[in-house]
Amino acid sequence: MTKKVLIVGAGYAGIEAALTLNKKKKKDDIEITLIDQNPYHTLLTELHEVAGNRISEEGIRIPLESIFKYTDVNLVMDEITSFDFDHNKVSSEKLTYDYDYLITAMGSTPNYFDIPGLDEHTFTLWSFDDAVRVREHIKNCFILAGQEKDEKEKKRLLTFVVSGAGFTGVEMIGELAVWVKSLCKEHNIKRDDVRLIIIDMLPRILNTLGEKNATKAHRYLEKKLKVEVMLKTKITSATDHSLIYDGGEIDTKTIIWCAGIKACDDAEECDLARANRQNRIKVDDFCRTENQNVYAVGDIGGLADEDGLPYAAMVENALQTANGAAENILNVIRGKEQKKVTVKFHGTMVSVGNYFCVSEIMGKSLPVWLSILMKFMVNMHYLWEITGFRGVSRYLYHEVLERRQRKILIEKHWSTRIQAWWLTPLRLFLGGMWLYEGLVKVADGWFNTPKLAAFLGMASDASSAATPSAAYVTRIDDVFRIKTGLINFFIETETRIAGGEDIIAQHFSRIEFFHFGDFNLVPWFLQNVVLANDGVAMFFQILVVILEVLIGLMLLGGAFTFIGSLISFGLTIMFLSSTGLYEKSWWMVFASIATMGGAGRAFGLDYYLIPYLNNVWENFWKNKKFRLFFKGSLDRFD
Ligand SMILES: Cc1cc2nc3c(=O)[nH]c(=O)nc-3n(C[C@H](O)[C@H](O)[C@H](O)COP(=O)(O)OP(=O)(O)OC[C@H]3O[C@@H](n4cnc5c(N)ncnc54)[C@H](O)[C@@H]3O)c2cc1C
Repeated sequence: MTKKVLIVGAGYAGIEAALTLNKKKKKDDIEITLIDQNPYHTLLTELHEVAGNRISEEGIRIPLESIFKYTDVNLVMDEITSFDFDHNKVSSEKLTYDYDYLITAMGSTPNYFDIPGLDEHTFTLWSFDDAVRVREHIKNCFILAGQEKDEKEKKRLLTFVVSGAGFTGVEMIGELAVWVKSLCKEHNIKRDDVRLIIIDMLPRILNTLGEKNATKAHRYLEKKLKVEVMLKTKITSATDHSLIYDGGEIDTKTIIWCAGIKACDDAEECDLARANRQNRIKVDDFCRTENQNVYAVGDIGGLADEDGLPYAAMVENALQTANGAAENILNVIRGKEQKKVTVKFHGTMVSVGNYFCVSEIMGKSLPVWLSILMKFMVNMHYLWEITGFRGVSRYLYHEVLERRQRKILIEKHWSTRIQAWWLTPLRLFLGGMWLYEGLVKVADGWFNTPKLAAFLGMASDASSAATPSAAYVTRIDDVFRIKTGLINFFIETETRIAGGEDIIAQHFSRIEFFHFGDFNLVPWFLQNVVLANDGVAMFFQILVVILEVLIGLMLLGGAFTFIGSLISFGLTIMFLSSTGLYEKSWWMVFASIATMGGAGRAFGLDYYLIPYLNNVWENFWKNKKFRLFFKGSLDRFD
């Protein structure tokens, strides 16, 4: 008989549980249903980037349809409002859903600890809508402040308070501090007129990190971003125009509450035993609640560590408890023993604005640049697991190409806002040239007569004397040279002289890579590896021709254009560093770079090929079955 597994909540935990069940159910007759109140999954860990206007909100919203295509998971958009554990049912306002096994994965919500005024007068940062609301409010404060004549009111509008100096609060104030610089410019407001404050009851920020990293981040906030850090400060209430703490009052229109969480409000409707003050649901070692067919995972579940304390409400906890619960449900269905679930945390990364990040991975602190990189890598890894290439490319699009707060020159200039069809003529021309070069070589006998040595200018006297070009004398004159030791640049003129008369002169450029004293790597490599013996030389010779023809066809057809352009770039650089590149061919280097930027998307096969391959891969990844054609295999990205 079909076993119904119902999952409520499509956050990190719910998605992991559904994908694990789908992948591992094999031939078991299991119906998996995932219910969420939204049709998308929110990357909660990046909310501050939307609230601080670093990226567009589309960058943190992933349609559930795109995660679960090619799976047997049924998606339902609904908000569950009540739970009937005696009859194995959950209900929304309109519908009732029954189950054999239930996984609750509804996450958490802010906790106001019954402090008066917080619920009514503060912003939170715990959902997609929260992030957009905070961003729009901040923009509005600057607009109003720009028009305000009353100095006191203006000051109030320009005072922004984040309460809670854990990772959410620090990431939020860091992001805001970077954005404020451009907001000030836009609205003609002095940066010194803006107050950014972060408040916490504890004696230091980032309590989950070691002291050294916390101090580093603290210093960066104060010195670089001009944030006031108020520690050991207890908030007692909030009004619509101020925040009151144990030692005074701050006039402000903006309080962003990041100081505590508790299990999601809807879970209060769940009549299940609680694990702690945060209302997390009590579970046993298998993530099972007091109702043996109901599991609680992620922020809402209270799985305890060896000391009996619930694991931190973080993504790694969500993924590992969800995975464990899904496997345990399969174990029960298969009549096997359930396995104890434990959570291993590998590290934490906290960004403080665009250009600063502290992290501790496996107990080690990483330098700032590596921490920033790690944060990107972790997000990309997660997206790769749930959406494959499509999710990663979308992420890079928002985070790298279209990010809004740009400081470094190079990032100010890159953008995807170029229409691919402008590149079509260039792609076709470049492809045509490569195909022509390759075919000329084929006609010239490159498939059966040794030519490479002469082509590379390394032929022995005997062989060059046999060629008609030996009738010429060649003279090389320096035009321009930069010698830096390891890498040297030359532009030279090659003049061919016949009977004492100059007949052709043309510039060519050459770069020597890795020239140590008398040792010059590239000629050495060519002489000793590529031309080591006739067989090897012939292999490389044929390879060059095949590559030239292949690049030509790829670029003309617009198929795997990025790879074709990359090889084109590689070959031109190879010529540049060996024979030298004649001026008539210099354009090919730059054209290869230009066509890497999606030139096959317009009037090229990539328009169909890339989505198709991604779909085939995704289908394989989610079902562990390889199929070339199936419903939706030709669908383009959303
Ligand atoms: C700003 C911010 C920064 C963070 N940074 C980090 C970080 O750097 N590293 C880290 O490890 N963790 C971080 N976290 C914590 C991390 O995001 C959470 O631990 C994680 O999201 C928990 O996953 P979850 O699946 O349990 O819940 P969630 O991801 O919150 O998902 C819950 C889902 O349940 C749905 N839902 C809720 N109620 C209902 C209902 N009644 N009916 C239907 N659906 C419902 C919601 O719509 C949501 O999709 C951060 C959190 C925030 C807010």
